[in-house]
Amino acid sequence: MLRQLLAAIVLVLAVVPAASAAVVPQDFGAAAQGVPIVGSNAHLPPLAATSVYNAGPIVGDEIIEFRESGGYQADIRGVNSRARAYIKSWLDEQCGANATVAQVRGCRAMIVSDIDDTLISWYSFYADPAIDFQYVSVAEAAAKEGCTPPAIKQTVALLQYAQSRGVAVVLMTGRKEAERATTNACMNRIGFTGYRKLILRSPAEAKLSAQDYKSGHRRQLEQAGWNIMLSIGDQPSDMLGGSTDAGFLLPNPMYLIP
Ligand SMILES: [Mg+2]
Repeated sequence: MLRQLLAAIVLVLAVVPAASAAVVPQDFGAAAQGVPIVGSNAHLPPLAATSVYNAGPIVGDEIIEFRESGGYQADIRGVNSRARAYIKSWLDEQCGANATVAQVRGCRAMIVSDIDDTLISWYSFYADPAIDFQYVSVAEAAAKEGCTPPAIKQTVALLQYAQSRGVAVVLMTGRKEAERATTNACMNRIGFTGYRKLILRSPAEAKLSAQDYKSGHRRQLEQAGWNIMLSIGDQPSDMLGGSTDAGFLLPNPMYLIP
């Protein structure tokens, strides 16, 4: 309760997501382990949070304004277009100029992508007055089960482009292993298929921070010989902790998952 109260107070004082948010280089200090990260600056202040928190109704109007001003979509487009340019130059440099699919496969080039608020958008769910940017577990579980959050088409297209070049795509999510079938069905429904692997949290990983869980799996992928050119997600924890050449951070002013 105290933590929530403190979060609410700091959120009021913080720079809230503005219509003028921008896609910029992000400085996460030592946690980035030297990995360049570029992305939207529309995010909740991290506070040094060690657990998940939601924005809540106190800044709901500002999040809605960010969305309705077009800023949210502009950042999604901006991050994805920068990621696409980066993929092209990474492949030119690492696998040969205008590398063929066979050459790219030989490079063992990989992208790791998050799912929620990366490939599907929870904005409409959270903006619903009945939810009002709060965590409502029953409603969230039902939306996940029904795959009601719509696709974020730009990210779907980005990953499809990478696949068309021969890049292996791994989906890595904080969702639980028990949600595997639901999650695969949802990816099918939004038209994203052909991923090499779907990594979900095992029961043994339940207590790990998102950053430790995700960077740990990236390390294993690297140890298996993959070259992770980039990680894309809506949370800094999708890309901090190393074992990726770059991070692309989509906007998410709604909740923080450290
Ligand atoms: Mg996410």
